[in-house]
Amino acid sequence: MPPNDAPPLYFDNNATTRIDPLALEAMLPYLGELYGNPSSGCRLGKLAANAVARAREQVAPLLGCEPGEIIFTSGGTESVNAALASALALNPGRRHLVTTAVEHSATLKPCEALEGQGYEITRLGVDTAGRLDMSDFNHIIRPDTALVSVMAANNETGVLFPMEELAEACRERGVFLHIDAVQAAGKVPLRVAETGAVYMSVSSHKIHGPKGVGALYINRRSAFHPLLRGGGQENGRRAGTENVAGIVGFGKAAELALQGLEREATEVRALRDAFEAGVRERISGVQVNGDPIRRLPNTTSLAFEGVEAESVLLLLERAKICASAGSACMSGSLHPSHVLKAMGFSNARARSSLRFTFSRFNTAAEIAQALEILPGVIAKLRGR
Ligand code: PLP
Repeated sequence: MPPNDAPPLYFDNNATTRIDPLALEAMLPYLGELYGNPSSGCRLGKLAANAVARAREQVAPLLGCEPGEIIFTSGGTESVNAALASALALNPGRRHLVTTAVEHSATLKPCEALEGQGYEITRLGVDTAGRLDMSDFNHIIRPDTALVSVMAANNETGVLFPMEELAEACRERGVFLHIDAVQAAGKVPLRVAETGAVYMSVSSHKIHGPKGVGALYINRRSAFHPLLRGGGQENGRRAGTENVAGIVGFGKAAELALQGLEREATEVRALRDAFEAGVRERISGVQVNGDPIRRLPNTTSLAFEGVEAESVLLLLERAKICASAGSACMSGSLHPSHVLKAMGFSNARARSSLRFTFSRFNTAAEIAQALEILPGVIAKLRGR
């Protein structure tokens, strides 16, 4: 058991990440003396506007697009909602949307609300490895399909979806595609402009930036119908005085994330793999949820036979290990994960599953420490 004042072993990086000290440092002047409003013409205003413009140049290469194709938002949830709203407003005669059964609630909930307004939603299923079922995709797209909205990577299992294939099918059929890249950004390379997708959502706090800020990519050849109306900020595409400090921190975090992509694919992946292998060596009855190959390098979702994930979390918390059961928004509720259920797993398997997600701030020593603690926790709960 680590001493009480030891920092926690933080393995919940798909829920949120610690802010990179360099991102924090970049933000601080804009929370202090550089408090200008980017829309005002005075010197402080111009400094703020320049800082926002620079952040746009830092975020664009992470997505693989032009700076002018990005608007800053309050985070992933707003970006997704704005994409959905814009696609529907620009295609008023089309009343059908396609998404998946395993999206984040930022997509699931607006889709449920749209269903209540008479829209028809088709939710693509996944197989037992969490892979998207593309077999019927071409038949599912209809002349009245307004939008296809699909995540690039699943937040619970890390499974990657075939973005190029989806984008090509949408392009051929003249249907708007929105990619929720909130979990993929900074973990795998993104080249949104090459895909031809119309929208892409990303979020700062998943890439070691501050919370409450994100971005929406809008293909420069596409019109946009704003979700928020008011002032002319973001070229009239997102009203409201900019979260300047947040945007500056996001910009720095995006720059660091792009530089660190190689490290995600090697060092972070190695940490995840060492943890996964170590768990399976030391504990019997453990299954990996999701395609072990085509997934984010930082994510592992593990089912521990015969235990409740909530009980495991409680004991891990006492040992200062932070992980999660299903997605963060779902924990605290006793519903088994909709993602694991969509993969065809029983309630028992879904309820016995934990997600461990790593980042460049984790170390091999932390993995070793966790591997000392976890077997005892599982054995205790199994009554052995
Ligand atoms: N989309 C996915 C796939 C996510 O994992 C999340 C957050 O967990 C969101 C959207 C929402 O992003 P935010 O927390 O920035 O609103």
